[in-house]
Amino acid sequence: MNIVLLGPPGAGKGTQGERVAQRLGIPKLATGDVLRAAVREGTEQGLKAKGYMERGDLVPDAVILGIMKEALARPEAAKGVVLDGVVRTVPQAEGLERVLGDLGRRLDAVLMFDVDEDELVRRLSSRTVCEACQTPYTGREPGASCEKCGGRLVRRKDDEPEAVRNRMRAYREQTAPVIDWYQRKAAAGGNAPRFIRIDAEGPIDEVTERVMRQLKEQA
Ligand code: AMP
Repeated sequence: MNIVLLGPPGAGKGTQGERVAQRLGIPKLATGDVLRAAVREGTEQGLKAKGYMERGDLVPDAVILGIMKEALARPEAAKGVVLDGVVRTVPQAEGLERVLGDLGRRLDAVLMFDVDEDELVRRLSSRTVCEACQTPYTGREPGASCEKCGGRLVRRKDDEPEAVRNRMRAYREQTAPVIDWYQRKAAAGGNAPRFIRIDAEGPIDEVTERVMRQLKEQA
């Protein structure tokens, strides 16, 4: 099953994506994680992406399409993949369709994570992540230890207020049209991916159950 997770920054795509991927026994691809690793390692791709990411702007589509193509062609992704934060522009959505088509596969479902904007700002401004394993936390201070690996928690540069504003703007201007694009496709029927709206507020476990229920119900 190939699934795209859509939703604003802070909607919980990363956390839920990890859980859904585990339940379905397929890998998760998060372009944000791939790019952050590239920045840490100082690769050419990382150097290209760094400035965009720190400002909270979107990285150019060509870079994202390259990552997508490589990840989807890996043998471990053959049974399917959960794409977290990958499709953020219409050209990326078109590109994904092409890449999957070339591999003889298709997108099965698009999960749209709905969260109220005040709640998003609250989540992002109190978020820290583990420097080592990238596990996100809400409401734990920088400098504390990661529960999973003991690494140090830090604040992401792009969780600073200025970058958060930019990310929200990028979402409204560039990603919101992707929602319409998928909704129109789903309404037209045929072989189009299902479009599923998820209420992403509330306890993490409950949201996971909602996602799994919806995926099963509509399969
Ligand atoms: P995320 O971890 O998904 O919040 O992504 C962090 C940052 O990486 C974003 O603010 C963008 O700068 C960049 N990024 C990640 N995925 C994409 C994408 N699909 N398209 C463009 N930029 C991306």
